Amino acid sequence: MTLSTEQLLQLDQQHIWHPYASQINPPPTYPVVSASGVRLQLADGRQLIDGMSSWWCAIHGYNNHVLNTAAKDQIDKMSHVMFGGITHPPAVELAKKLVDLTPGPLTKVFLSDSGSVAVEVAIKMALQYWLSKGTENKNRLLTVRGGYHGDTFAAMGVCDPVTGMHHLFKDVLNDNIFAATPPSGYNRPFDVNDLAEFELLLRDNNDGIAAVIIEPIVQGAGGVRFYSPDYLKHIRVLCDKYNVLLILDEIATGFGRTGELFGCNHADIAPDIMCLGKAITGGYVTLAATLCSDKVAIGISEGEAGVFMHGPTFMGNPLACAIANASIDLLLANDWQGQVKNIEHILKEELAPVRDFEHVADVRVLGAIGVIELHDAVDMAAIQKQFVDAGIWIRPFGKLVYTMPPFVIGDEDLRLLASTMVGVVSRL
Ligand SMILES: *Cc1c(COP(=O)(O)O)cnc(C)c1O
Repeated sequence: MTLSTEQLLQLDQQHIWHPYASQINPPPTYPVVSASGVRLQLADGRQLIDGMSSWWCAIHGYNNHVLNTAAKDQIDKMSHVMFGGITHPPAVELAKKLVDLTPGPLTKVFLSDSGSVAVEVAIKMALQYWLSKGTENKNRLLTVRGGYHGDTFAAMGVCDPVTGMHHLFKDVLNDNIFAATPPSGYNRPFDVNDLAEFELLLRDNNDGIAAVIIEPIVQGAGGVRFYSPDYLKHIRVLCDKYNVLLILDEIATGFGRTGELFGCNHADIAPDIMCLGKAITGGYVTLAATLCSDKVAIGISEGEAGVFMHGPTFMGNPLACAIANASIDLLLANDWQGQVKNIEHILKEELAPVRDFEHVADVRVLGAIGVIELHDAVDMAAIQKQFVDAGIWIRPFGKLVYTMPPFVIGDEDLRLLASTMVGVVSRL
């Protein structure tokens, strides 16, 4: 079946759900036929510079020879095999790499299919840990407002209750506890009052709290906000003081995006449980991982069930693991830290002019993330078209026009991307 672009778009509107989309008033979509380096190729022949890394994932750009080769080699061996009772080199290699790269206490790796599932697994680990210890009521989570942890039910239950996109379901979501959004600013000096409410909630509900869950340093889809390493450091201190587990959701921050390999490295702390996803395969295929400490793993395994009660069909998919191994090796072989620093420097320079616009509330840059926050929500369809017509791929949401380009983007492309963002925003 060869479809014309018109047929393709018509069938798309008839039959396909896109993320957060309507079937009565379907959103405009742009047909992409291929992608290479930092460029997306549209069906009509236009090329767009990619400013989104396909939602934080494509850190090496598209159609990368090393990742292509890893994928093809693995397909010729086996694409998938069940993980129950079977193991294989790609999964073992990946687990070893993740344990080596993440903070010391994290020693066990649970592989799954997507970020949301990695969060479900993390929450389940925390709950099962306390059940195994014979502590019946420690089954709620403490988190902060402004967070985003995914679209499945336990994950929805820790997303921001207002901006986290899931307020419709509040009556069926778990009854978790929310503290204030971390005060904005990576360089903000720490003030003990910043965590006073958080500590009160932790103290007063201590018997019922299994874990704290938070995105380290950068709150992503809940608002792309940055907060200080000291705040995160104190969260770790409070978790220890009140004997609750700390889950760090590194799905967006992992693999270099913030300038450190993981968000927790900014604060030099280790969580009890860590979620990874998004950039783990360089954006090639879906894969996620939940890491935990010996304490958590042994605690669960000594409990009544004797095993951790989870096992997805595609767990440890060899193709995904092989690509993840190649992507991580490639990242470490590159001067990723230099690349991210350079992106940070250029974004700071190029985005600065919009700070003076009356309709702009804030401009912030951290690592390879640049954010223009407006006072009012944008008309997504209209602004999307302007970006495409100007030759860049930027996907704003709400009041945010933001970019997190592939690490391999060249200076010239990045300056063009950022200055085009500024141009479009200036005309709003
Ligand atoms: C994207 C994201 C998730 C969810 O991952 P999916 O792969 O979309 O299920 C969870 N947490 C954070 C911090 C994310 O950025």
